[in-house]
Amino acid sequence: MEQTDGFGGLLAHFQAGSARALARAISHAEAGRGSELIRHLFAKTGSAMTIGLTGPPGVGKSTLSSALVRKARSLGKTVGVVSVDPTSPFSHGALLGDRIRLAEHFTDAGVFIRSMASRGHLGGLAGATADAVLLMDAFGMDVIVIETVGVGQSEIEIAELAQTTVLALQPGSGDSIQVLKAGVMEVADVFVVNKKDHPMANQLKREIRSMMEMLDFSGWVPELVMTQAPSGEGVDDLWSAIERHVAYLHASGELVQRRREAFMHQVRQLARGHLERRLERELTNQIATGVDPYAAADRVLRAFGASAEELDEPPRLPHLRASVKGSR
Ligand code: GDP
Repeated sequence: MEQTDGFGGLLAHFQAGSARALARAISHAEAGRGSELIRHLFAKTGSAMTIGLTGPPGVGKSTLSSALVRKARSLGKTVGVVSVDPTSPFSHGALLGDRIRLAEHFTDAGVFIRSMASRGHLGGLAGATADAVLLMDAFGMDVIVIETVGVGQSEIEIAELAQTTVLALQPGSGDSIQVLKAGVMEVADVFVVNKKDHPMANQLKREIRSMMEMLDFSGWVPELVMTQAPSGEGVDDLWSAIERHVAYLHASGELVQRRREAFMHQVRQLARGHLERRLERELTNQIATGVDPYAAADRVLRAFGASAEELDEPPRLPHLRASVKGSR
């Protein structure tokens, strides 16, 4: 934080609508120092429409983001874009593409674009990204697009964070098979076959449809739209599908549930980050003792405050994956 400004100054500028203050607030969050800001601003969050956009590299996510921004702007809505590269804090390849494709919006005061690399931050994707979304929400952005490369876990995380998850797939690349393998099919509220000008686009559409038949949906049935992002073709359909999903969330009461899940997810990630660090410390303390692993685990857990009754409970298998939202 700049010495001349301080926390109070930053907060005041943020609340006065300064985009620079929003940028700095997100930088604080990225550095793991966002908690005080969030504490002050959390009450102002909860009104933004949040769209998670995910899919493999090259499918057209940043072109689609740009088209969605254009659409939202045409409706008079302010838009924040958080573009996350969960693969590396150093390679900015994906982000560079973004900068080019979103460039037309850089001078629009109603649009705020932020790229971030999330690996290495406390709480992973959910940590810094969730903070950035909260900050944009508190800032008053009507729509927030969270764009991330699909690399298995990140689709599931984005689904925890966003109200509507849009999964973009690429014709002629065998994506649909991969989606099925990775089990990410369930997180999509809207499927997008982008590059509808591609000769294999219709085939991919059929593949997705037949895969959907194998799944049971209760409540919302995911929609499938085809787009050609650079020309904007199909983007109105995509926007309408997103709006229908949002309307469904409102009408069914699922919105409240999703907000709660997103909240719990962030709390869980934050708590887990701290607990894991403490666990590593305790493990280091117990290593030299030469006892059996069960006794060592008991000691670690006692250091965490576990009671004798808790230690008697049989251990549970490690929680490997964040739970998938919804009741499908
Ligand atoms: P990302 O890596 O998923 O963000 O993909 P980009 O938005 O960077 O797009 C990758 C490439 O695909 C770029 O060269 C785009 O111009 C191109 N592209 C995006 N959408 C379409 C489309 O609908 N049709 C065609 N033919 N190319 C597209």
